[in-house]
Amino acid sequence: MSIKESLLTIKNELPDTVILVAVSKTKPVSDLEEAYAAGQRIFGENKIQEMTQKWEVMPKDIQWHMIGHVQTNKVKYMAEYVSLVHGVDSLKLLKEINKQAKKHNRVINCLLQMHIAEESTKFGLDKEELDNLITSDVFKTLENVNVVGLMGMATFTDDKNQIKKEFATLKEIFSSLQSIKSTNLDVKILSMGMSGDYKLAMDQGSTMVRIGSSIFGSRNYS
Ligand SMILES: *Cc1c(COP(=O)(O)O)cnc(C)c1O
Repeated sequence: MSIKESLLTIKNELPDTVILVAVSKTKPVSDLEEAYAAGQRIFGENKIQEMTQKWEVMPKDIQWHMIGHVQTNKVKYMAEYVSLVHGVDSLKLLKEINKQAKKHNRVINCLLQMHIAEESTKFGLDKEELDNLITSDVFKTLENVNVVGLMGMATFTDDKNQIKKEFATLKEIFSSLQSIKSTNLDVKILSMGMSGDYKLAMDQGSTMVRIGSSIFGSRNYS
């Protein structure tokens, strides 16, 4: 299947309430152009430098999502244009995003990444760290960031029940946050689900799926 066909097939499976992020990391600009021509406007990348190179050459009505782990010293390169940062998992990083956003007179939308998987290698906050972050005095002073939801990745396993359980846990935390509103906290996006598990994620209440290989084909890391 072509990129266009894959994209349209997946889009057909998503209800209107679920937003599709086309994960184009490692893929050439020509692949992104094909998806763009088929109507895709939201792209996800996991390296700031690569995303910035693509942002420079691609049409300006694209929304660029940073879905990977973010190093504090690289935030400045995307602060001018990034539309959503999915992987925020510390107050330190949030403070840096706030600082860089201010320089560009912007408010940058962020998702807090939760650790829901069994693997200890995956990044993210636990529930206690999340609570500490959003109730801290410093958080309330960050006027140039807006926390609009949560992101999480399930364990890499064939065990569907486990994946389902992990997504359900994230959805529960998400729901518990929706009643808490402050100037820079308005939780409405739940980013969960990738090529292998987005249907399970949608069953559990995902509002944003991040799909790469099912659209662009498998990736070559060289
Ligand atoms: C690469 C990546 C994806 C997409 O993975 P696929 O399995 O190719 O759909 C989604 N989310 C994150 C955080 C990623 O790094």
